[in-house]
Amino acid sequence: MVKESGYYDTLGVPPNATPDEIKKAYRKLALKYHPDKNPSEGEKFKLISQAYEVLSDPKKRDLYDQGGEQAIKEGGMGGGSFSSPMDIFDMFFGGGGRMNREKRGKNVVHQLSVSLEELYKGSSRKLALQKNVICDKCEGHGGKKGAVEKCTTCKGRGIQVHVQQIGPGMVQQIQTMCSDCQGKGERINPKDRCKRCNGKKVIREKKILEVHIKKGMKDGQKIVFHGEGDQEPGLEPGDVVIVLDQRDHEVYQRQEDNLIMRMEIQLVEALCGFKRTLETMDGRTLLITSHPGEVTKHGHLKCIQNEGMPLQRDPFEKGLLIIQFHVAFPDNNWLPTEKLCLLENLLPPKEEIMVTDDMDVVELVECNPKEQSRHYTGEAYQEDEKQRGGVQCQTS
Ligand SMILES: [Zn+2]
Ligand SMILES: [Zn+2]
Repeated sequence: MVKESGYYDTLGVPPNATPDEIKKAYRKLALKYHPDKNPSEGEKFKLISQAYEVLSDPKKRDLYDQGGEQAIKEGGMGGGSFSSPMDIFDMFFGGGGRMNREKRGKNVVHQLSVSLEELYKGSSRKLALQKNVICDKCEGHGGKKGAVEKCTTCKGRGIQVHVQQIGPGMVQQIQTMCSDCQGKGERINPKDRCKRCNGKKVIREKKILEVHIKKGMKDGQKIVFHGEGDQEPGLEPGDVVIVLDQRDHEVYQRQEDNLIMRMEIQLVEALCGFKRTLETMDGRTLLITSHPGEVTKHGHLKCIQNEGMPLQRDPFEKGLLIIQFHVAFPDNNWLPTEKLCLLENLLPPKEEIMVTDDMDVVELVECNPKEQSRHYTGEAYQEDEKQRGGVQCQTS
């Protein structure tokens, strides 16, 4: 039992979630609520990051499970302070981090929804992005050469310093961003401004990226387009990072390189054998046959070698296709009672018990743990008495 579940709720996972489930939940939410995509959800983005920071660290998670948020805030771990949501995000998605960010533009992360078939067969997807590119007309100067002047208001520093008298002989210095140049430290005479970019130095452009999804790639895997991020004068552009997000498949579930599926078979097939066909994701038909005399039990797992997911390092090799059998039993009264005897004689013998008078006769009813069935009526009891005993079979 955990003391509080707030962080788990924030990520939408149960308190017994595996580290992988926590990672996946963070990935989806962080991309959804990232300020680039959802500028009004900054607070939510922060909460998601904090929850992930705690739950992704086994020691902090332990502390939280035992003592809740209070324990984290007081706790000896890093003074209980949280990292910046952006740093958590960059760390998770492999961004440059704070040191690099000054020299490089930021990375742009996009999620790409893919089907399991695409990861199985490989595919190529075109993705249209909007990005800033350096204006080719002014080559990123914002105006004619020489038109850029130092801002006279702030003398190129981008900040203005106001001196305020707060008492006799006491002054206070207040720094504010220069309002004339918006902190850039330079200005362009309106008539010399580049007409194409309107002095912004960059223009918005549509860019088509071709994403090659290789056979065997996994949910959450990143495909990096180096230097395809927004361009900005004087900065090396960041990367565009595409994160694959696999949709659920209606038949197959993936577990690493294996595929798992559920197959329902009839009781007769479970006892007497079966033949089934199976469509692979690349359109082949597999014929599977049980071994003569073999009984397939409910919940039993069997596998087919080399029909799982292709391995990314060697797509000719595949993992296992694991089949979990579910045996469908016939409905009540599917066979007239006299015929049941025939069947019983064919089946392995059942254990007979000696009924004695000192035994308590109890009723076996349908079990629905949610509605504690306490409504025993005399009537139901008597009816049950009449039916007890069932069919007497001649055993030979
Ligand atoms: Zn321009
Ligand atoms: Zn200025």
